Amino acid sequence: MHKNFKGIEKTVYGRGSFNQLGEILAPKRVENEQYFVFIVDQYFKGKDLEVRVPAEGKDLVYFIDVDVHEPTTEQIDTLRDEILAKQGLPSGVVGIGGGSVMDIAKALSLMLTNEGSSTLYQGLNLVKVPGVYHVGVPTISGTGAEVSMTAVLTGPVKKLGLKCEWTVFNQVVLDPELIASVPTDWWFYTGMDTYIHCVESENGRFNNAYSHAFAEQAMKLCRDIYLGENAGQNAENDDKLMVASLMGGLSLTYSEVGVCHALSYGLSKILGTRHCYANCLIMNHLEDYYPEGVAEFKEMVKRFNVTLPQGLAKDWDDETITKMAHVSYNLPHMWLHAIGENWQETITIDLLKDLFRRL
Ligand code: NAD
Ligand code: ZN
Repeated sequence: MHKNFKGIEKTVYGRGSFNQLGEILAPKRVENEQYFVFIVDQYFKGKDLEVRVPAEGKDLVYFIDVDVHEPTTEQIDTLRDEILAKQGLPSGVVGIGGGSVMDIAKALSLMLTNEGSSTLYQGLNLVKVPGVYHVGVPTISGTGAEVSMTAVLTGPVKKLGLKCEWTVFNQVVLDPELIASVPTDWWFYTGMDTYIHCVESENGRFNNAYSHAFAEQAMKLCRDIYLGENAGQNAENDDKLMVASLMGGLSLTYSEVGVCHALSYGLSKILGTRHCYANCLIMNHLEDYYPEGVAEFKEMVKRFNVTLPQGLAKDWDDETITKMAHVSYNLPHMWLHAIGENWQETITIDLLKDLFRRL
């Protein structure tokens, strides 16, 4: 069976396109209880963007601090209950922020119409009915969350996405002006998430001409941004990074991620290490699996004097490493892609523990 994926319904791209958001939402305001919920990264509180959010009438605006923890099932359930109790079903949800805020917006949209805790829906196609209209406005680029069909949540048992067709945004607004203020370290880590998506998507059995075309273009853009003559954080590269993130996301959607992401999920679930940073820590040690990709990744690390700490595993006891290895092992679709049909012959808990000990 070939994958049959739903894409974003509408996309607006360009500098200043954020100004069109109000106009885009207007025709949807007749739906449900006729108000919008805006989920905005706390970073923008008190910044110019705060007053540009096109909230009106009884719209609700929530500023969320994403640095406390990655989005959780409990957080979504509480927010959903509060919103429904206050004003009933909204016309839609708009997420203005990075992967964290976009995942909150996607998950909230689904949980506003699906009963019970979001923990019930962590997995593939478990969501019962479509959510409300939802819009993604990335303010940091790299994870591809703007285009993916998953809303990653950390629950009491698993870190797993609500993954289904209805998760995909109805609309995205790609305005490169919004990513100009991203701190350089995050600009690097999240951009590398795109690069790693492409390396992994390309190197595995699910790669095909369709996913390859997106990865090839996204990697070219990453090379311009992180290694080219005009490398660095500037307007031209912000324009490119926003597109690279989207294309990297499309590439992995039609193919799959691999070794780095499988290990990264283990590290994030057990120690709470943030996704893009965790990927960078791990990619640094994956020469055996992705020799060319890792060599180029290291060039980029060097170019921007990024310090990736070594010797972290020294402080982890065997129990912690074993737990990480189990989380990673339980991602068979990634291993099948990266290693092949007989992946269980080479990928064992002991081997995964050894890989974690390299960190
Ligand atoms: P993030 O949303 O966690 O934000 C990272 C930091 O950047 C935060 O401190 C935030 O406040 C700040 N920030 C965001 N925009 C800014 C701006 N314009 N200026 C200054 N600071 C800004 O970052 P992320 O890396 O995009 O997202 C990580 C999350 O995405 C994780 O929770 C991860 O699980 C999830 N994720 C989801 C998918 C998916 O497909 N749904 C894929 C990968 C990762
Ligand atoms: Zn990723």
